[in-house]
Amino acid sequence: MPGYADFYRRSIDDRDGFWAEQAALIDWQTPPQQVCDYSTPPFARWFVGGTTNLCHNAVDRHLPTRADQAALIAVSTETNTEQVYTFAQLHTEVQCMAAALRALGVNKGDRVLIYMPMVAEAAFAMLACARIGAIHSVVFGGFAAGSLASRIEDATPTVVVSADAGSRGGKVVAYKPLLDEAIAISTHKPAAVLLVDRQLVAMNLVAGRDYLWGALRQNHLQTVVPCEWVDATHPSYTLYTSGTTGRPKGVQRDTGGYAVALAASMQHIYGGKAGETYFSTSDIGWVVGHSYIVYGPLIAGMATIMYEGLPTRPDGGIWWSLVEKYKVTVMFSAPTAVRVLKKQDSAWLSRYDLSSLRALFLAGEPLDEPTAQWISQALGKPIIDNYWQTETGWPILSIANGVEQAPSKFGSPGVAMYGYNVKLLDENTGEELLGADQKGVVAIEGPLPPGCMQTVWKDDARFVKTYWSSIPGKLVYNTFDWGVRDKDGYFFILGRTDDVINVAGHRLGTREIEESISSHPNVSEVAVVGVADALKGQVAMAFVVAKDASSLIDDATKLKLEGEIMKVVDHSIGAVGRPARVRFVTVLPKTRSGKLLRRAIQAVCEGRDPGDLTTMEDPSALQQIRDLISS
Ligand code: ATP
Ligand code: MG
Repeated sequence: MPGYADFYRRSIDDRDGFWAEQAALIDWQTPPQQVCDYSTPPFARWFVGGTTNLCHNAVDRHLPTRADQAALIAVSTETNTEQVYTFAQLHTEVQCMAAALRALGVNKGDRVLIYMPMVAEAAFAMLACARIGAIHSVVFGGFAAGSLASRIEDATPTVVVSADAGSRGGKVVAYKPLLDEAIAISTHKPAAVLLVDRQLVAMNLVAGRDYLWGALRQNHLQTVVPCEWVDATHPSYTLYTSGTTGRPKGVQRDTGGYAVALAASMQHIYGGKAGETYFSTSDIGWVVGHSYIVYGPLIAGMATIMYEGLPTRPDGGIWWSLVEKYKVTVMFSAPTAVRVLKKQDSAWLSRYDLSSLRALFLAGEPLDEPTAQWISQALGKPIIDNYWQTETGWPILSIANGVEQAPSKFGSPGVAMYGYNVKLLDENTGEELLGADQKGVVAIEGPLPPGCMQTVWKDDARFVKTYWSSIPGKLVYNTFDWGVRDKDGYFFILGRTDDVINVAGHRLGTREIEESISSHPNVSEVAVVGVADALKGQVAMAFVVAKDASSLIDDATKLKLEGEIMKVVDHSIGAVGRPARVRFVTVLPKTRSGKLLRRAIQAVCEGRDPGDLTTMEDPSALQQIRDLISS
């Protein structure tokens, strides 16, 4: 087998030949006539002329060979339930859901908004939409009525699929009242609402609009709903970005390119095989949930675990007990979850038989070296950081573990993945930085490979303007991340381009300073932002969650730790990186997907309006910072 370097080169030099081969990993009703149409850049159309179906590839295709094997394993430590659906059972449930959606008026091309907790029915609904060619738009369960309303207006769904409630850490969150309120505020009214009754809270049904899944399911248990063959370029779904840097963007994804990209990534990056089990701890509200809880593993013929609950309840061993029980071979999580586990006893990770597990993939935000070291030692397995975006749908940077088991480097999410012509560019001149260890904007030369966003939903102009117009004189896709590449081709992400601090003419990524601060033994989490300063242009401000908060009893102990942290930064980066202040908080403001909301912290520090906070997890976190700043 050729090494990864050759594999990658070919994907760029012989783009169409490479992807034509990958296209054979999925089933087509009509094979594509053209691999890539890039005649109207930056809009790429992949596998033109081909017709296929995502649900067919995820479910029906496996019936002849693995009907009785596990497909979907739904585990909830919130309701203490665990149910395994075989591919045959999944096929039945998805057909029922598809029949129910059709009965409620959903046709090909119509939108269905899914506002659901992490229950099996959420996956049934996604797959059912794909089956009938409807476009799903999953909104993170539990989002407030206002955010939900704006997404209802944007997607104009025919039907909303929801549930009575979700549950988190034993706390029930009623969804139905939030949904009712959202529909009341929204100018668009869905024709029907399909509700899964988990019997967690009572629901008031609106006559003529609200239907119970339980009842419709009974009606349709025998209904056959064949897969609707759609063009490769038919939109499969829309999904919002996390809203870390501003108003979330509605990403629109195709069908054929996405199916091929996922099938290829399961083989080349994750190295997952049919009949094995994949466990992604993400949520279906995020892109990781779409690609690697629902579609990717199922397309590969793997069983997928859908987990509702915390990583620490009933105890810190829960995920690892699932790895043992279901012989998980590939696991996918986020650094934020690992940092939660890190606060527990690492003995939880050695209590279970993890021999089936080949690798743990982490993505979503920078993986700091202490966290990477900790999990790597505790698990004794390869830890693979991978870097991507809602927009791309699958990794831009990673280790292609299925092609060549190259070593990881701590702090690096790896090398450019096949299909991505990744460049580092000078932000101001657009000039390509070819040498090692130069800092620049991470950009991708078009066309984006299969599986990436087609456009911004209903807004082609925003797609071009947001992503393709920011580098002077060049039509390239801007990731808005700031990075550096070493001599071996490994990238290091230094933070968002927005998060670059300019201290007296020195450009520093907030990530570099955070990385340095987190090496102090009493630092659990840290956020660094640049704050306008009359003298220096900008100064760094650090907000730290101490590991041992009980040691910070008064101003003197805080000042002492602040001084120690500054010394650490002086030592590793130099005085230019030294924060003007290090302040202590008990929790940092994050999105629901666990990303630091640096721009909100920065705005508060500069006395500005923090902007769109609809995806924020815990508003009290920002309040702590407000209180500190005004004190
Ligand atoms: P928005 O675009 O709405 O501001 P967002 O960028 O956080 O939100 P996502 O698409 O969920 O939305 O996240 C993608 C971003 O997450 C990347 O652009 C990068 O900044 C960060 N990221 C993802 N994976 C990694 C990683 N492995 N290392 C460092 N950063 C990562
Ligand atoms: Mg983004």
